[in-house]
Amino acid sequence: MARRAELLQAFGLEGGIASHLGGELVAGQGATVELIDPATGESWAGYADAGPAVVDQAMVAAKAGFRVWQGLTASARGLVMWQVGQAIRARLDELALLETLTAGKPIRDSRVEVLKVAEMFEYYAGWCDKLVGDVIPVPTSHLNYTRLEPFGTVVQLTPWNAPIFTAGWQIAPAIAAGNAVVLKPSELTPVSSLALARVGEAAGLPQGLVNVLAGLGPTTGEAAVTHPETRLVVFVGSPATGSLIAAAAARNTVPSILELGGKSANIVFADADLDRASLGAQAAVWSGAGQSCVAGSRLLVERPVLDGLVAKLGRAAAHLVMGAPADPQTQIGPIISRQQWRTVDRMVQEAAGEGARIAVGGGHPGGALERGFYYAPTLVEAVRPEMAIAQEEVFGPVLAVMPFDTEAEAIALANATRFGLAGAVWTRDVGRAHRVAAAVRAGTFWVNSYKTINVMSPFGGFGRSGYGRSSGKEALLAYTQTKSVWVETAAEPVAGFGYVG
Ligand code: NAD
Repeated sequence: MARRAELLQAFGLEGGIASHLGGELVAGQGATVELIDPATGESWAGYADAGPAVVDQAMVAAKAGFRVWQGLTASARGLVMWQVGQAIRARLDELALLETLTAGKPIRDSRVEVLKVAEMFEYYAGWCDKLVGDVIPVPTSHLNYTRLEPFGTVVQLTPWNAPIFTAGWQIAPAIAAGNAVVLKPSELTPVSSLALARVGEAAGLPQGLVNVLAGLGPTTGEAAVTHPETRLVVFVGSPATGSLIAAAAARNTVPSILELGGKSANIVFADADLDRASLGAQAAVWSGAGQSCVAGSRLLVERPVLDGLVAKLGRAAAHLVMGAPADPQTQIGPIISRQQWRTVDRMVQEAAGEGARIAVGGGHPGGALERGFYYAPTLVEAVRPEMAIAQEEVFGPVLAVMPFDTEAEAIALANATRFGLAGAVWTRDVGRAHRVAAAVRAGTFWVNSYKTINVMSPFGGFGRSGYGRSSGKEALLAYTQTKSVWVETAAEPVAGFGYVG
């Protein structure tokens, strides 16, 4: 596609997709990774997996970038980060369309996500010179203070569902805390992360501070996780891969932060504003074709309003616009890959085989979209809590609906999975809203809303959804380690072993 080629050229990638290390593009040395356009099923590019030797180079580049970054004052680092935010805004149209044409994300979503990346750099820009330690009133003659120090080189692994958003979300707090980054985006969607690193450097980030590896998980990703220069691993992706990576990092005594999947419950009480609840339920699971970690993939509905809400959602599904990602009218784009499309369909058909009923959607919408990996917005009824469709992440536009009769039952159902990423309640009863918010095990919870997130607010999982926090002040602290410094202030030497406080 001519427009895609022009955009690759605009970000200096006309020579092909390669890793961005120390300001240079470095070709991979491994197997060829083919990129398929999910909207058409056509192959549009291929690139060589980076491999361990390129990872070594990335680590050398990161060390050099770290030194330069540490050499700047905190305020100077903040100013550069602010400039990166401004540069992203200036290239919003190009970055959003690049994301859309290389990751299959509807352009209206890409635009929102690129703007959020600009906000991330601007927000953390303000933190650079406000990241301060404490003075501790110890009971001895010492001055004791803490320093919040960077780890050094941080390895970040990100998934395909929101590539540039997730890259910005992790890079911004990492570098604001003073670290250098080696990021490996999903092998399916490396392009926008490469573009982001290049925009960042053009806006003033030192070369080597942010390096992006184009490559596969088990080869390039694993080499980065287990590299002796790696000081912290941050993983955003599936629970199965996340625990493998945390274990590999732990073998080298390297800490990790895991942002994993979810099976979030969207709870609708009979007293709720059902029009709003319906809109919220659609945004929760059908937007992004359900490829969202916080997807509200379980809809728990108080029995008296169950049929009415299901009917409302069915009517709404018929009006949602599925189409080409670059079309501004498109609300739902394709699933990222044929393999993921098959996973989604298998889970829906298995649920039907176990007695659930496909009330809406369930399969390819066909027609003009035939060749792409599109999946119709789907609603599955008569779901029992023990079914896989109620327990496992589908990562597609599939809503599993379950009725409840009491508040206690709603809470028990919401907590009946090992995940704990997000959830929501729809009710006009303010006391109930707070009781349910407190009782549901989840890192993020909405009342009469869904999917609102902001860089200022912490985000992360409970249970199988991971640990550690992204965004907000919490992310900044997660990217630092605390050093305690003791300074003797006594006028006379302290005798013997009298140092015990
Ligand atoms: P994935 O686990 O397959 O891959 C994530 C990243 O890890 C990719 O870059 C991949 O190449 C890499 N990787 C895979 N195997 C590796 C290995 N052995 N060593 C090192 N790296 C390896 O995830 P995905 O399928 O790309 O993304 C979907 C998942 O991401 C879903 O489970 C979704 O819920 C989750 N997700 C979570 C959040 C969150 O913040 N909690 C956000 C977005 C997506």
